Amino acid sequence: MGVRNMSIKTDHSFKKISLAIAVVASVLSMTGCGKEEQAEKTAESAVTTVTAPMAANVTTDRLIAADADPSNWMSTGRTYSEQRFSPLEAINADNVAELGLDWYFDFPTNRGIEATPIVVDGVMYVSGSWSMVFALDAKTGEMLWQYDPQVPPEWAANACCDVVNRGVAVWEGKVFVGTLDGRLVAINAKDGSLAWETMTIDQSKPYTITGAPRIVKGKVMIGNGGAEYGVRGYVSAYDTDSGEMAWRFYTVPGKAEEPFENPVLAKAAETWTGEWWAYGGGGTVWDSMAYDPELDLLYIGVGNGSPWDPAIRSPEGGDNLFLSSIVAIKPDTGEYVWHYQTTPAEAWDYTATQHMILADLNIDGNDRKVIMQAPKNGFFYVIDRETGKLLSAENYTTVTWASHIDLETGRPVELDGARYGDGEVHVVSPPGLGAHSWHPMSYSPDTGYVYIPVQEASFPYQQDVDFETSTERWHTGVNMEIAGLPENDKEIRDMVNPMIKGHIAAWDPIAQKEVWRVQFPNLWNGGMLSTAGNLLFQGNADAEFAAYNATDGARLWSFDAQTGIVAAPITYTVDGEQYIAVAAGWGGVGALATGAILTDAKGAINRSRVLVYKLGAEGQLPDPVPVKRELPTPPVLEASPEELAAGHALFSRHCSMCHGDRAVSASSVPDLRYMAPQTHEHWNDIVIEGVLNKRGMVGFASRITPEESSLIHGYVTKRAHDVVNGND
Ligand code: CA
Repeated sequence: MGVRNMSIKTDHSFKKISLAIAVVASVLSMTGCGKEEQAEKTAESAVTTVTAPMAANVTTDRLIAADADPSNWMSTGRTYSEQRFSPLEAINADNVAELGLDWYFDFPTNRGIEATPIVVDGVMYVSGSWSMVFALDAKTGEMLWQYDPQVPPEWAANACCDVVNRGVAVWEGKVFVGTLDGRLVAINAKDGSLAWETMTIDQSKPYTITGAPRIVKGKVMIGNGGAEYGVRGYVSAYDTDSGEMAWRFYTVPGKAEEPFENPVLAKAAETWTGEWWAYGGGGTVWDSMAYDPELDLLYIGVGNGSPWDPAIRSPEGGDNLFLSSIVAIKPDTGEYVWHYQTTPAEAWDYTATQHMILADLNIDGNDRKVIMQAPKNGFFYVIDRETGKLLSAENYTTVTWASHIDLETGRPVELDGARYGDGEVHVVSPPGLGAHSWHPMSYSPDTGYVYIPVQEASFPYQQDVDFETSTERWHTGVNMEIAGLPENDKEIRDMVNPMIKGHIAAWDPIAQKEVWRVQFPNLWNGGMLSTAGNLLFQGNADAEFAAYNATDGARLWSFDAQTGIVAAPITYTVDGEQYIAVAAGWGGVGALATGAILTDAKGAINRSRVLVYKLGAEGQLPDPVPVKRELPTPPVLEASPEELAAGHALFSRHCSMCHGDRAVSASSVPDLRYMAPQTHEHWNDIVIEGVLNKRGMVGFASRITPEESSLIHGYVTKRAHDVVNGND
């Protein structure tokens, strides 16, 4: 362990390219990414008692003053401003080379880890996959308790993007987590016992919760996901003591002939046409929120349309409010105040759910209270957070759907060829995976830069002429099979190929320009942390956890994390000593759907752990257990080339989201090329009948026919033969 400089890989293997398209696509078909790996609980994991007298003692006063209390990391963005900057400087650019591993904690699962840990008065609260919550001694790593909300494994089939959770909220002795199956759970911080739980969704619909709750004045706010499956988005507020719902704000209007839940939805409905409600509409609030205590405004980031293609959900046009918008609401009542829509008539999965940062910037000589966001669509927005007025916007990466944002109207100026309603394939940047996804940014008031984990990619959009509305499979209106069939179309592959990478951008939000970047060979790199020690921390897809000089991006330190990292780091102190922590572990949609793209990268392996560092520590991780696989022994291949092509198309639609593009799994979900003979024998029992339902591999009887199942089996068998024949 210790200091090590990794050179940046620049090779682009063919394998990587073909999969890249799928990545980009977030080719998410409806599959049940399973729970098979979930470890059984051991006796040691039983509840023990925390001795702290006032566990999770977070209050309004403490949160408002959080900036002056850098020992703690009391809410997901550290402060209400969500800047993810720490004033701590004991660990700094001069001594970071002495940083070493102090302790680590192994999660009992090996699915995706996306959480930002919370630290309050020496106790760390962190969520893992399947919405499990852990309380750890922040100094030693000793587990104080764990809480498993027992998410039904088959609910994974409703999750577009892995069974992840991006963190908890803590408040006055309780720890709050939203569960994958739609519950909001309040846990007693002192001992891990259940305080209350409430169902926040209609469970007849494929909603999920993966985002971290936010807490404002004794109300806990939570949204949900599901826009890829035809749901209607909203955010709800619950009383932290009783669990009673205080208000709910829907982000898109419901059925036109029924009364709107909120007067502003009548206005929003004027921007929709046709019978949008029959498709759900989308607009889920699946990740970002921020609160300004001075203005008393809660900002929510709203997601993409469902389906993606606006010609289906709103056939006569319209902006489709409040899709892809930042909406300001009153946290006491849920009353609408203002909105800014980043992508009118959204068509490309361009959510505005990305991280929002509140800051005070001097722009043209005026002090402005701003909100900053780098949503999926590739533009960096600086918005007046009192009024919602756009102050500036520039593209922070390659953008081919719009030339610029018109500052007079606040609207994008779209480019010809960006929309795909003509039946042709339109390769557009950024892709639905986003030029920037949920991975948190960081804003350093010291350097004045916003650090953005940028993704470089594009996606071939084509209208799905066979679209049918359904909550049982991907519901985009876009032909996802193209994305999964790159080898069938060299022209498309060559267009999408050149730009599958990622980087850190140090972005000057006043000048609206990139100052420097740190280039990576892969996308799906981790969230950011900046500190007053002039440091920037980030984990990446290549299994590194690294520190950079926050001023110039020089690489100062790195650690072999044995796993890809996507979550954001934090820092805190216990007994006056500064620690850096990150919840490590590979997963999420960028990992699951990409298959082979990351088999070159060390990040392909998931080892789910909390890693905690301090100066002078010399801890070691146990040696990694090498992944060993026997050559598969597939049955005789009987499918014709036409049947293989049909099987591949079906695989892309229904299976690739969890089992990876071209059946290469770079995650803990089984790699189907290596199936055992008995799995081949029982293929239809598993795929159609669902005999592995309890392990998260749901039956697909309602989605595909036995004939289609056999075609998919033929394709997977072919892929096993590819391995045997060494031409994979
Ligand atoms: Ca989406």
